[in-house]
Amino acid sequence: MSKLKLYNTLNRRVEEFKPLNPQNVGYYSCGPTVYDYAHIGHARTYIFADILQRTLEFNGFKVKRVMNITDVGHLTSDSDTGEDKMELASRRSGKGASREKKTVWEIAKFYSDDFMHTLNKLNIKKPDIICRATEEIKAMIGLVKTLEDKGFTYEIEDGVYFDTGKLPDYGKMTGQNFQELKKSLRAGARVEMTVGKKNITDFALWKKTPEGIKRQMEWDSPWGKGFPGWHIECSAMSMKYLGPAFDIHSGGVDHIKIHHTNEIAQSEAATGQQFVRYWLHAGHLLVEGEKMSKSKKNFLRLKNLAERKFLPLALRYLFLTSSYRQQQNFTWKSMIASQIAYDELTDITAQLKRSMQSGERVSISEEKLNKADAFREEFVESINEDLNTSRAMSVLWKAVKSNIPPGDKYDLLLLFDEVLGLGLSGIETEKEYQVPPNILELINKRETMRLQKKYEVADRIRKEIEKQGYTVEDMEKGTKVMPVKPYTGVGNEKKEFEKSG
Ligand code: AMP
Ligand code: ZN
Repeated sequence: MSKLKLYNTLNRRVEEFKPLNPQNVGYYSCGPTVYDYAHIGHARTYIFADILQRTLEFNGFKVKRVMNITDVGHLTSDSDTGEDKMELASRRSGKGASREKKTVWEIAKFYSDDFMHTLNKLNIKKPDIICRATEEIKAMIGLVKTLEDKGFTYEIEDGVYFDTGKLPDYGKMTGQNFQELKKSLRAGARVEMTVGKKNITDFALWKKTPEGIKRQMEWDSPWGKGFPGWHIECSAMSMKYLGPAFDIHSGGVDHIKIHHTNEIAQSEAATGQQFVRYWLHAGHLLVEGEKMSKSKKNFLRLKNLAERKFLPLALRYLFLTSSYRQQQNFTWKSMIASQIAYDELTDITAQLKRSMQSGERVSISEEKLNKADAFREEFVESINEDLNTSRAMSVLWKAVKSNIPPGDKYDLLLLFDEVLGLGLSGIETEKEYQVPPNILELINKRETMRLQKKYEVADRIRKEIEKQGYTVEDMEKGTKVMPVKPYTGVGNEKKEFEKSG
């Protein structure tokens, strides 16, 4: 079997994956900040994380995956001067006539539930450990204390800061040296630097609640009442659950320059050893050339796709057709194409399952056996080539269209799906459709009219049923009702984004 190779941002090259322990892999993926809905940009990054986990498992590794939920400390500005996104969302929640004021805790619960629900619909495996920043404050304070004891921190009115000037290899993952990094951060800075900060690259480990202000989320610490910095959260939680050195850490590309760079700095300063061996980053999902994001309000949720009858797993299919490291531009046209391809795949899977159940397994010739083996090998080679899912998908289609016997084809599909996660093992021989009661009522009415030979009325009812998105087919025994293929009726390319906040 080919060896697993992954692109490691830390060394800027594709490398063979060799875990610290030959069988067990420790993997931490940065979780969401839960102040707004999960969108399909998040979906792309977490589908990538899921494919990575499944690929590791496919290669025989036992994976312990940890994911955090950021429910405190992520500021609106990267330079430690903005407002906490959670507190801001709570403050804004009461605005507008019909809107109810929500506490930060209610906001965190509501949006983390929405996020977990989204993962579930996309068939993303639940991480082994899901930890919330607000429940791990003790570990964070402990880590800041260690850094303080080792002389890497300084305290100013605003909080406790990490002195990046004290770490010779600060910023190593960015490929820029200290001076270049400082320069590029200065160029991108939109706000004044916090008073007392020594370097623009220094970052808050602990932010003090300013005099006269009462935050909803704040804790006592040796440096006064306050809250942890966003970066220290991930270092403290990942090392608590996976140890001071572990194998893989992932997130979106936006995390490379600041969040992950600072995680590396503070973790390695604290432990004196390499924090993480492989850093993997997913490219962004764009919409009209811009990053889909909560703050830009140009985002779409699964709910918006469902309104147009697109299935979450067809979105997963769409993401698998491109490399996780590249940016991907979301268009309705590509969504339609993916839904059509996904429908075809599930139809074929159902057919194969039917033919398996209906008869003896055909014995397979040497030639076809070799062919099936070759498909399997090529599939493994593809996913092991830095998770090349688009190539893996083309191998899948090659196998589907080949002349190997249905049983072997079906087995291959299910095997491939252990990595792809398109839900193929759950496909029934007859796809079952849930027909809503109002449609059933119309069907019955139509049936009655037909029995009474009132064909004109029956026809009008059929048209009404079709208008509501279902097709009617008269069979020998009864009527077959099916939803209109989800993608028909779409094609309206008008801009339609979720508005919230
Ligand atoms: P956030 O909740 O904004 O901290 O994001 C959680 C994760 O989703 C991070 O790893 C982000 O990099 C990732 N993410 C956010 N927006 C997008 C996007 N448009 N495309 C891909 N990943 C994204
Ligand atoms: Zn993180």
